[in-house]
Amino acid sequence: AIADLLERQEERESGARTYARSLPILPVRAHGMVVEGADGRRYLDCLSGAGTLALGHNHPVVIDQIRRVLDSGAPLHVLDLGTFEKDEFTTTLLATLPGGPDGWRLHFCGPAGTDAVEAALKLTQTATGRSGVLAFTGGYHGMTAGALAVSANVALKTPLPPAAFEVTRLPFPYDYRCPFGVGGGMAAEIAARYAETMLTDSHSGVVPPAAMILEAVQGEGGTVPAPDGWLREMRRLTAVHGIPLIVDEVQTGVGRTGAFWAVEHSGVVPDVLVMSKAIGGSLPLAVIAYRQELDTWRPGAHTGTFRGNQLAMVAGTATMRHVRENGLVERAALVGDRMLRELRLLQGQQTAIGDVRGRGLMIGLEIVEPDGPANPIGARPAAPELARQIRGECLARGLIVELGGRRDAVVRLLPPLIITDAQVDTVLARLADAIQAARR
Ligand code: PMP
Repeated sequence: AIADLLERQEERESGARTYARSLPILPVRAHGMVVEGADGRRYLDCLSGAGTLALGHNHPVVIDQIRRVLDSGAPLHVLDLGTFEKDEFTTTLLATLPGGPDGWRLHFCGPAGTDAVEAALKLTQTATGRSGVLAFTGGYHGMTAGALAVSANVALKTPLPPAAFEVTRLPFPYDYRCPFGVGGGMAAEIAARYAETMLTDSHSGVVPPAAMILEAVQGEGGTVPAPDGWLREMRRLTAVHGIPLIVDEVQTGVGRTGAFWAVEHSGVVPDVLVMSKAIGGSLPLAVIAYRQELDTWRPGAHTGTFRGNQLAMVAGTATMRHVRENGLVERAALVGDRMLRELRLLQGQQTAIGDVRGRGLMIGLEIVEPDGPANPIGARPAAPELARQIRGECLARGLIVELGGRRDAVVRLLPPLIITDAQVDTVLARLADAIQAARR
């Protein structure tokens, strides 16, 4: 019956489904990091709703708050009216923002991360009167036209999205496959100088853009953390040239990287912070915070029916509070460091692991051809087929992981911040076994 249902679903839904194909399970119950399938099998979930579930599945503080609102008789749909629930959410959110709670304006967007990206792009275009955008190789920002235009993966763009504005693509500092073909951690330095040249050389072809958009740790691009110095350099350059800096923290936010917002590691304060996923505590919610000076929108300039869902706001408030009050940001940093250390030890024994990288609980293993030829900077060819086998062997051992990266060859780990030490041990053991089994 389970197989029948999965097959029916496959026939009914679009061919674009992805997770359903790589994870042929029928989840019926979930708690914390554990997902239970209809067949009674239990899985440790290192996907966490694509990085959404900071507190794992069905955390009691989240469920209690959702239940409280449902029982209270409060209206569930209020358009963008003020409510007690929204007041608590905005108070809690503002207190987390980089540089302190003052000087920010919030805009509630449509329910998804991509809606918040659209709002950020449009706002900076309104505020500057310019249209072009600087974006980065490997960046991912969503599936709507503007967000897709600033995303890098060409395979997702066919046919190309309508050219609403010009995008100038700059190299993101990705050391393992350095875009300039040099090793030794030089990618950040050269990428920064390249960006500077594009902005200052009157013959670079770049007209002054409305914004620069980047991720502090690229997620879908293969879990690539930007060095702090490079981020500070992007902040300096954009400030000098009067370009609003949009940081997309849809995936990195709410403690995931070992700071509440990933930009905090570098001390950078962006002009626009894009937020979704974890801020809704497992329900759909997307918000941008932007510096007051950018507040150029007239009433009605950017609207939407679903903005700031009441249940998502209370779930998000509960999540943010629980993360802060229980030291989960610090714990993500600590546990992440331990996982990175142990995975680097594993890399010493497993030539299929080309690179181990990440920050906090946003970790990636780049899978490469174990006996493939190394290029001049030591990188071996990506091995997407082996990565797929590893994902399958993980699932067979009760571990849910997903793939990402330039060639879908990066095994990505996004465990919830509430992962226990014992669960870390189990995840690492199952992953090591899976890699060993996939190579056989
Ligand atoms: N930005 C980033 C950094 C993301 O990781 C994602 C989703 N993976 C998005 C934007 C788009 O969010 P959504 O899928 O909710 O539209």
